[in-house]
Parts: sequence; structure tokens; C-alpha cells
Amino acid sequence: MQHRIVVLGAGYTGATAAGRLAKRLHREDVAITLVNAEPDFVERVRMHQLAAGQDLTPRPFGEMFEGTGVALKQGKVAAVDVDRRTVTVAAPDATGEAKDEELGYDTLVYALGSGWNDQGVPGTAEHAYEIASRPGALRLRERLAGLTAGESVVVVGAGLTGIEASTEIAEARPDLDVALAVRGGFGDWLSPKGSGHLRKTFDRLGITVHEHTAVTAVGADRVTTADGTVLPAAVTVWTTGFAVHPIAQATTLEVSGTGRIVVDRTMRSVSHPDVYAVGDAALAMGPGDKPLRMSCASGVPSAWQAADAIAARLTGRKVPNVPVRYFNQCISLGRKDGLIQYVTADDRAKPAALTGRLAALYKEIICKGAAWGVAHPTVVPVRRRRVVQETAVAPEGAPVGTAA
Ligand SMILES: Cc1cc2nc3c(=O)[nH]c(=O)nc-3n(C[C@H](O)[C@H](O)[C@H](O)COP(=O)(O)OP(=O)(O)OC[C@H]3O[C@@H](n4cnc5c(N)ncnc54)[C@H](O)[C@@H]3O)c2cc1C
Repeated sequence: MQHRIVVLGAGYTGATAAGRLAKRLHREDVAITLVNAEPDFVERVRMHQLAAGQDLTPRPFGEMFEGTGVALKQGKVAAVDVDRRTVTVAAPDATGEAKDEELGYDTLVYALGSGWNDQGVPGTAEHAYEIASRPGALRLRERLAGLTAGESVVVVGAGLTGIEASTEIAEARPDLDVALAVRGGFGDWLSPKGSGHLRKTFDRLGITVHEHTAVTAVGADRVTTADGTVLPAAVTVWTTGFAVHPIAQATTLEVSGTGRIVVDRTMRSVSHPDVYAVGDAALAMGPGDKPLRMSCASGVPSAWQAADAIAARLTGRKVPNVPVRYFNQCISLGRKDGLIQYVTADDRAKPAALTGRLAALYKEIICKGAAWGVAHPTVVPVRRRRVVQETAVAPEGAPVGTAA
């Protein structure tokens, strides 16, 4: 009997976990199925580039996983039943019509990522644009292409996504009037060198920054702020963080208040030992006992950790536990400028930062490397191991069985 591993979501973390499991486990012993709504890999970290009019390299899963032993299943995950160990997937049949199918699993890796978070601000769902997903980025791309010179774009939120979106749009469309609204201070988590460079770049690109400005309503052509100020906005781009899909919350899995699956340091669910969660969908504690930030920077190592823990538990080896840590925050500022903010293990800014063209090049290498890593999950060849025991009964963090 093969051990059935089902991986839900083929973003940065699900695809990485599936590939790494296939490299670590013997093909005769496991059946690995990777489920994803779309047939190709979406480089989510480039959605601001897509929105600003750039074309991205197509990355079909069929090519990426050819010969790996990972079975691909295109379909939308509709539900997970962690008590029956089944997943319901709406998959297209031969006529293209979506039909519900049930997949059984022995081990589940939940990696459905996240989407935008409108935070319930009135008018946002109807009028704002988002770039957390490809359909969202394509919708914004079309809208931006239809804007004429002088029209206004307001980006709400000045985290990494808002900074990248506003600079990318301002660089691609210098004829537009681009502004950024931020609830607190602009770039206030960065080092003085980092925030200084950010301000200089925003000045150079002509982006107006509204600091200490909470947007409380979005209309078709404006946003309203907490003090009643109205800012003109032919287009509002909403980038105030990510929210997870509601599927996990509808299960008996232990989830956080925001619906992320609570996992231990091996990325295993604290309530259901045959379920692992990685990436944005997981709530895992990182250095300094702070939850890992929704990012590729910590998501991809979380996928390595989960895959290695699953492989170790199935093959009766000691479960590795490599703490996930941060090194830098890589921010693109258009195509020719960037900011690499070096950080402590728990993601606090150090004084040093790399800026300018070199930083843009560094960031580009990171993005290319992340996509390459998905298609090549283990650079150093590893020995495939034989499965010796089921995973479900092992206590948290403990090795199971003995090597064959
Ligand atoms: C514009 C932008 C820039 C970013 N820049 C950076 C950066 O520079 N550095 C960084 O570390 N992070 C960055 N991030 C964050 C990063 O993209 C996410 O944290 C990362 O993609 C999370 O990986 P994931 O595998 O958990 O989820 P995703 O990459 O979102 O993958 C989830 C996958 O699940 C699939 N899926 C979702 N729901 C279903 C369903 N119901 N059925 C089937 N399939 C489904 C999706 O199609 C997708 O393939 C950026 C994000 C954005 C939007």
C-alpha cells in the first residue's frame, strides 16, 4: 500500500514541499498528489509588475514536475474533512465542466496561501483593486492601461506590497498622479539608511505620501480618510495585508483567530498530526517567539521543514528541526532601484541596507531564485528513503520507528 500524500496549493510553498517530498521518498512507497486551481505556477511576488504592464515567464506545472513522480490535479479545493481524511476538489471533467471529486489522504500538506484583506472597510470590495492574486493584478493592469495622463492612483498600505506597487506604477506611468496612504509613519520599521532611501526614491518618482492617514471608505473615484479628508482616486489599490482562505476555518483543525492553521515547529498541525500547514496558511512561531510573517522568505523554509519532517517520520529517521530565520527584506522600487534591508533573525532592521541598482539586481536574483527553487526543490541530490511506518501516531517532534 502506498502512503498517500496530498498537497493542497502549488504556490511557492506547496510546490516546494511536493517536489522535496518526491526527492526524499521512494516512488513505490508514496503517491504524491499536488492540487492547484490553475495549471501554471504564479510568481506572486511579481504581481505588481504584472499589474504595471510587464509580462511574466509562463511556468506550466506539467513541465516543472515532469518526471518527478508528483501527480498533478488541477481543480479548486472546496472543502477538507480532517476527520475522514478527505479533500473535495472541484475539477474539470472531459467536457470542461467542474465536478466534485473526493481525494483521500494519509498525510495532508495544506498550502493554499492567502488573498487580499479588505479589512471590511466600506466600499473596498466594490471599488478597490488588489494585487495579491493574478486575476486581481490583471484587472488592475487593464484599468491602469485605460487611465489618461493626470488621473490619480492611491495605493493604500505601505508595507512591502504597497511600496512595491506604488513605485512600479509610478515608474511605468510617470504621467499618472500616484499617492500612497499609510496609517502610521512611512517606512518606520526600516533603518535610517533604508527609510532615507525610500523617501528619496518616492520624491524622485513623484509619489505623494500621506502619512498617519487611515482610509475609512473607498468610492469609485475617491478615498475618505479618518479625519474626513477626501483624496481623489480614479483607482484605489488596496494592499493592507493578506487574509487566508476560509477552508481551514471550516474544519476541526485548530486555527488562529484569523483562520491560519496552528502548527508546531515542524509545521505539523497541533490538533491533527497527519496534517501539515506551510506558508501563509500556517501560524508558526519563529525566532523571538513571534509568528512567522506571511512571506516567501519564511514560507519556503517552512515548506522544506514540513517535507523533511514528513519524510523523516515516514522513514523512521530523526526529525530535523531547522529554525526558520530572517536575513533581509528585499524590496523592489521599480525596475532600476531597490532596497535590501538587512534584519535580525526575528526580522528587525539592522543599520545596514543595500540600495539602488545593485539592490534592484539582488532583488531580481532573489525572485528568479525563488521560482527556480520551486522547480528544483533539492539542489544537492539526496538518497530516496523507504517508508517504514505511518506518521499519524507519532507524538509531536518525535522520531518514529527505526530505519530499515
Ligand atoms: C505583490 C506581492 C509581492 C510580494 N513580494 C514578496 C517578497 O518580495 N518577498 C516575500 O518573501 N514575500 C513576498 N510576497 C508574499 C508572498 O508572495 C507570499 O507570502 C507567498 O506567495 C506565500 O506562499 P504560499 O505558497 O503560502 O501561497 P501562494 O503563493 O499564494 O500559493 C497558494 C496556491 O494555492 C492555490 N490555491 C488557493 N486557493 C485554492 C483552492 N481553493 N483550490 C486550489 N488551489 C488553490 C493558488 O492558486 C496558489 O497556487 C509578495 C506578495 C505580493 C502579492
